[in-house]
Amino acid sequence: MKKLIKNGTIVTPSLSYQSNILIENGIIAAIQPGLETSDTEIYDARGCRLFPGFIDAHTHLDMAMGPTVTADDFRTGTRAALAGGTTSIIDFATQDKGDTLTHALGKWHRKADGISACDYGFHMAIIDWNPEICNEIQSIADAGVTSFKVYLAYDNLHVSDSAIYEILRRVGQVHGIVGAHCENGDIISKLIDTNLRRNNTQPCFHAQSRPDLAEAEAISRFTYIAQMAEVPVNIVHLSSEAGLMAAKSARQRGADIYIESCPQYFILDDSCYYLPGFEGAKFVCSPPVRSKHSQTALWNALSAGSIDTISTDHCSFNWKGQKELGRNDFSQIPNGLPGIEHRPVLLYTYGVAAGRISENQFVASLSENTARLFGMFPQKGQIAVGSDADIVVWNPSCQGTLTAQNQVQNVDYTPYEGLKIQGGAKAVFLRGELAAENGKVLFENQGKYIHRHSCDYYHKNS
Ligand SMILES: [Zn+2]
Repeated sequence: MKKLIKNGTIVTPSLSYQSNILIENGIIAAIQPGLETSDTEIYDARGCRLFPGFIDAHTHLDMAMGPTVTADDFRTGTRAALAGGTTSIIDFATQDKGDTLTHALGKWHRKADGISACDYGFHMAIIDWNPEICNEIQSIADAGVTSFKVYLAYDNLHVSDSAIYEILRRVGQVHGIVGAHCENGDIISKLIDTNLRRNNTQPCFHAQSRPDLAEAEAISRFTYIAQMAEVPVNIVHLSSEAGLMAAKSARQRGADIYIESCPQYFILDDSCYYLPGFEGAKFVCSPPVRSKHSQTALWNALSAGSIDTISTDHCSFNWKGQKELGRNDFSQIPNGLPGIEHRPVLLYTYGVAAGRISENQFVASLSENTARLFGMFPQKGQIAVGSDADIVVWNPSCQGTLTAQNQVQNVDYTPYEGLKIQGGAKAVFLRGELAAENGKVLFENQGKYIHRHSCDYYHKNS
């Protein structure tokens, strides 16, 4: 049956306008006033904004970390995504040392296929680079994975600068993109070691061991390597003003740099690490959340259009039993925060409703830019004829409070407990089907794999 979403205001990166959207077979068939016929099911979106389904290009679901595994798997994480208005995610498949990328991709398909509630794709994290792995890049791209990741931190994950250079060159040949976790791993290992030897074991020393200058140094190095390799790159989870300055100076040198950041760096500040008891562990992620000063710098950059995408780095661990692994040693606290469900409402509340960014910028950074950069545009990322009917009917005026008790995420806390929010996903359509309504998920197991094509280095066209 055809569906008609009527009377809503469609929001694109450049304008907001009222129209009706006709959906046929999961695809947007027409956008214009009227369009009502006898065999059409009507959804009245009066008073609401219509956003393209939000895309979260940075999640870690069903991922092992040390002795434990993330609290959310693909079943629970993608349900939480839908509840908040996110209709597509890109998760990180990660190569094991000594193993192939093909094997890693198969492993992640087995984690996600058949149980995901929203649509999903994978990036490929490369941790072991050699000529055989180099030969796999084309077939991985042909399998719909055109984005890759390298780590400049973590002893078990990071690759050498020369490997980064070669990976950039090779991925550039298939018109893909490489994102990097930018922190100087050697310095951080040293600082962790020094703190533990001084018996500084509390969560605040996690943040103190990962200073913003360690991020800035790694961003600077990574972007210089990218310029030498002559390919565009993506900086994931940019967290600090110092990091932002390094990225901006790379742009001034002429490097084509894409920047991702995450809600925690806009909304939380480092005072959380000094909360009494073991509360600070709830906020342990890498990079850590920064000073209030950095928050302001990030908001200004988002408002100025210097930050391209907002994703979450969703990597949830329960406070009880998981974060507690590091009760006597901050370096044993599993790193990561939940966020997959709340990113849209957090950025709407503290960005759009607070007057820091427009609703058009909101759509660009949570959906369209992400779809373009990661080779899923125009199937995803816009409300336009021919695109998948992934549509969020957003009530801009409802108000509420975030609590762990009423979240869908399968984790025993939220770092945003008690925060007042404005706006919310009233209805979420995934490929034309009503998948969630007022935070209740109506869809199970219907998520489809997104076979992504070559990346659109859209800075070049703008
Ligand atoms: Zn991550």
